[in-house]
Amino acid sequence: MVCTVCHAQTAPAAPDISVDTLKTVTRELSDDKFEGRAPASETEPAVLEYIVSQFKAAGLKPGNNGKWLQDVPLVQITAQNVKPLTFTGGKQPLSLDYRTDMVVATYRVTPEIDLLNSDVVFVGYGINAPERGWNDYAGVDVKGKTVVILVNDPDWKTASREGPFEGRAMTYYGRWTYKYEEAARQGAAAAIIVHQTEPAAYGWGVVRSSWTGPQLEPDIAGDHMDQSKVIGWIQLDPAKKLFAAAGKDFDALAEAATHKGFKAVPLGVKASTGFVNSIRRQASKNVVGILPGTEKPDEVVLFSAHWDHLGKCDAIQGDDICNGALDNASGVAGLVALAKANVEAGPTKRSQVYLAVTAEESGLLGSAYYAANPVFPLAKTVGGVNMDVLNVKGRVNNFVITGAGKSELEDMVRPLVAAQERAIEPEAHPEAGGYYRSDHFSFAKKGVPMLDAAGGNDLVKGGKEAGEAADKDYVDQRYHKPQDEYDPNWDWSGAIQDLTVYYQMGRELADGTSWPNWYESSEFRKIRDQSRAAE
Ligand SMILES: [Zn+2]
Repeated sequence: MVCTVCHAQTAPAAPDISVDTLKTVTRELSDDKFEGRAPASETEPAVLEYIVSQFKAAGLKPGNNGKWLQDVPLVQITAQNVKPLTFTGGKQPLSLDYRTDMVVATYRVTPEIDLLNSDVVFVGYGINAPERGWNDYAGVDVKGKTVVILVNDPDWKTASREGPFEGRAMTYYGRWTYKYEEAARQGAAAAIIVHQTEPAAYGWGVVRSSWTGPQLEPDIAGDHMDQSKVIGWIQLDPAKKLFAAAGKDFDALAEAATHKGFKAVPLGVKASTGFVNSIRRQASKNVVGILPGTEKPDEVVLFSAHWDHLGKCDAIQGDDICNGALDNASGVAGLVALAKANVEAGPTKRSQVYLAVTAEESGLLGSAYYAANPVFPLAKTVGGVNMDVLNVKGRVNNFVITGAGKSELEDMVRPLVAAQERAIEPEAHPEAGGYYRSDHFSFAKKGVPMLDAAGGNDLVKGGKEAGEAADKDYVDQRYHKPQDEYDPNWDWSGAIQDLTVYYQMGRELADGTSWPNWYESSEFRKIRDQSRAAE
């Protein structure tokens, strides 16, 4: 790659990033009084007030034309009286229970959903990717039918990153959002994903807690009536029973689906379910702060982090508040700490925008809304960093760029990371599709180069074994659970390493004149070139 932005001879000086700020903001935002920061909930005004007070205290100015907040219109749908998901017409009838065996929901803003005797078709990975010569829907009409889909993309088991879908690394075709989008384009009445822990990268508990209770989506004209009636997930065991009832072998068909030319298989059974929806329309808010630039204030560098979390969730040991201390009170604390350090260092030539977005957990809704309705034109948004979960395991020897090989921002951070005597390493779990799973993706989709990178698992104290164990403990015991709570014993020295890199990269961008782009091979390059050319 030709690096067009590696002109800086010296990195900006190391900032003074306050551990006290990181601790205070994380502890406050994850307090039980905010009840887990669900968007559009009763506690939202108090959460916003706290974030605004912290932005103000850091020395930022209101960033939305003199206001701190940006309205994000949302509609909340809560499914009630959910009937079992039944399959009839096979060797024996099958009835799957809500929450334990399956979850169902809908994007459609409508009071009642009824799926009755809908023909079931197994569509493999449910991918239609003409540019990769792959179409799981070829030769099959699924209009009004129920499609059963595998999670991730067909070559996720590959050890390398070579393959029709980049091998082990997940592409966007592997994400559940894509599966439902494509099923709707094909006219399916219902789209059901088979949950498998490894390719999904999380357990059934995460599916259950994320897909039951109030669901949020953008409040737009048309009320999403172009989407499938029913979207949902089923556990692996019931899926196997479904295939057996249809006289098919799940493992054999799942294997067949990994090969090019796979043909969708009608299962010869019919699916039924139904539920009623309570519907509430309400705006949530993004918080926008700015440190205005001195020479080119209309060109902006972006720092983002989501403030929302899951709110009240399934109780574990009597605790039903999903506090989201690491996810993502810590990221908002990172915004405040970076803002403080930058204000102290003095304004930059370009503006710096600090964006705390809502409804990330509901599908990146706050960032997608900002990207569709930007306060500062995206063509003049130079690039930035998103923070979602800071490192509280302590200092590490490595630095991992999620979805590496995408943009020239990577060339900018390389010397900054090297100066910390850290090594840049590939993602440990590229199959998890990390780059598509937080707010930077909303901006990338619209062409703005955004870095998603942080310290890895090679702990200075304890090495990779201890680091991997700490990561596993987080994913198994705390991720999206009430146990994601503030711990005064956390070691923030690793977060300081990362925030230093973000600060220095941000400073270099904001005091410079460069326009780092996506690499030629990136799926986002064309969008950026078009957006910049129109400027
Ligand atoms: Zn998060």
